[in-house]
Amino acid sequence: MEHVSLPPLSRVAICGGTHGNEMSGVYLVREMQKQKVDQAGSVSITTVLSNPRAVDACRRYTDTDLNRCFTKGLLSAPITDSTPYELKRAQELNSQLGPKGSKEAVDLLCDVHNTTANMGLCLIFYSIDWITLHIYKYIQSKMTSTPVRVIQLDIPISEAYSLESVGKHGFAIEVGPQPNGVLRADIFNMVKEAVDLTIEWLQGFNSGSTFEGGEVEAYNLVKSVDYPRDPTSNEITAAIHPQLQDNDFKLLRPGDPMFQSFSGEMVEYEGEELYPFFVNECAYYEKKIAFHLAKKITLTFPPISVKKD
Ligand SMILES: [Zn+2]
Repeated sequence: MEHVSLPPLSRVAICGGTHGNEMSGVYLVREMQKQKVDQAGSVSITTVLSNPRAVDACRRYTDTDLNRCFTKGLLSAPITDSTPYELKRAQELNSQLGPKGSKEAVDLLCDVHNTTANMGLCLIFYSIDWITLHIYKYIQSKMTSTPVRVIQLDIPISEAYSLESVGKHGFAIEVGPQPNGVLRADIFNMVKEAVDLTIEWLQGFNSGSTFEGGEVEAYNLVKSVDYPRDPTSNEITAAIHPQLQDNDFKLLRPGDPMFQSFSGEMVEYEGEELYPFFVNECAYYEKKIAFHLAKKITLTFPPISVKKD
């Protein structure tokens, strides 16, 4: 692919606590604020505790999931007395870090999350973003403590619902397994390393380094699978099968165990071979998702460097 020159990436936002009980981002942001981290060479850094009310309550959210509030439609919805707290907060964050889709928006928005699933470290991003792919490749080449993967969601940016879509470029860093409301030092270290590497890459980019193009494997979301449910009560009738539990990103083939009912029966997977992830994510019970399924794709990206005036 041909060399691409892009404008400097001088403003980055590091956000945590978008989900108030995902502790790595909460404590990473608090620590950066305590250390008064606001500049790293050519990069100005804004740190944001996205959902302070949910962080105080140590809950994912108080009225509604903040990380589903950043579509164009919701960001421009009129505010009334009955508007959920998180939607008001989403509009505040959009004013502070965006507005989404404008030239005033931060150059890169990095939102830190935890999952209860055994996913290692994942970057999650929308459509195709060469900056994210370059940063991903950089993090992957430097980090040895955990598998590093990238998940791509084919959602147009106007419909993109999560906070990172407010930046000109952006991704979520999703790290697990870590229970909600719990802080694990090993997971915290991974998150810190990924954020530090991101800022290091931005400095290298702004200083004129050329980053070679190439290809990476990515996981592309295909569909979600719900738990088996009782048709009358709608209650779940089975749990994730022990052979699927903790096996995120291990190819699921037809006939493989998927669920185990409470009377001990196994439910087999049927359908095409795909890769499960977010397996048994705590927060997805309410969304009626037992796990997601992805196909593996190869993404090609060009060599890039900063555009000089
Ligand atoms: Zn989260």
